[in-house]
Amino acid sequence: MTTAAVIVAAGRGSRAGGEVPKQWQMLAGRPVLAHTLAAFRGRVDRLVLVIHPDDRARAQALAPDAELVEGGASRDASVRAALEALAASGVTRVLIHDGARPLVPSAVIGRVLAALETGAGAAPALPVSDALWRGAEGLVAGTQDRTGLWRAQTPQGFRFAEILAAHRAHPGGAADDVEVARAAGLDVAIVEGDETNLKLTYPGDFARAEAILKERGMDVRLGNGYDVHAFTEGDHVWLCGVKVPHGRALLGHSDADVGMHALTDAIYGALAMGDIGRHFPPSDPQWKGAESHIFLRHAAQLMRSQGYELGNCDVTLVCERPKIGPHAAAMQAALAGIMGVDAGRVSVKATTSERLGFTGRDEGIAALATACLVRA
Ligand code: MG
Repeated sequence: MTTAAVIVAAGRGSRAGGEVPKQWQMLAGRPVLAHTLAAFRGRVDRLVLVIHPDDRARAQALAPDAELVEGGASRDASVRAALEALAASGVTRVLIHDGARPLVPSAVIGRVLAALETGAGAAPALPVSDALWRGAEGLVAGTQDRTGLWRAQTPQGFRFAEILAAHRAHPGGAADDVEVARAAGLDVAIVEGDETNLKLTYPGDFARAEAILKERGMDVRLGNGYDVHAFTEGDHVWLCGVKVPHGRALLGHSDADVGMHALTDAIYGALAMGDIGRHFPPSDPQWKGAESHIFLRHAAQLMRSQGYELGNCDVTLVCERPKIGPHAAAMQAALAGIMGVDAGRVSVKATTSERLGFTGRDEGIAALATACLVRA
């Protein structure tokens, strides 16, 4: 089964106040959508972000791993556009989620996915626990029985073919995708929602959301990277941003900076957002010969767009020659400058492999890197 998440974020809603639409406002130091996307990353095979055309540039910067689809005039038109974009993709299940629900717990996503193992549709909800009144002109005009009433949340999950057909058949104007599904005769199971899965609507909701995030605590992430480049003819190598005179050069696109490549991959790895090859495909001519600092700078920007800072990183170069020690401090300073962090958070060291293996035979250089990312 292939699962896609469709994050609906095309609205211009301003009830939450502020200059920018609520899904782009800052929540605990990063855009609301950064939280929302992070909740689905790693849970689904494809991420689709439905945006307003004006938001394309910031969406690309925030979510290079998502497919961007421009939304329509209404919520259901926006969802329909995303489903149509996936129509030929082979996706078998889809989770449709409000971009303004940034705190959706992993367990809620899990319950929707589990219910889709046996049913065509499933959505989280919470039973109404407060008494319900009807009111008129500031007075209580009557009470409403709450038996059987639920507060609907997202993600609402469906078998893909069924919900696409349901949207194609629907005249429009539905409140949510469950309504669209039911209009097409699909059964939608109710799974347990969560009080923290709130939809940011009013200014006060942001303070509540920040308090929930604070309670969830610090997020620490580790990533590793590994890279190898072979020696070729030449008179210098680039290692961790420093040009080191040597009787040979490293083979590869541009500077073949094996240490910087490993570190870049460690940061992408900590974010669970792929590797250099995914962000800068070697098959794309525009990246042929690109200098390695472009990759590392991109990884550091992506890290900050997701709300993380670099706790520390550690790069180990494996080679018999050249000697790294005399250059290590310059390498730490170069990497720190590119990432915009203190050099004290960057370690560069080296080891030989006791003349064993390809590094021992002086056929090339290997590099390992670890990055620790922290979000307070
Ligand atoms: Mg490389």
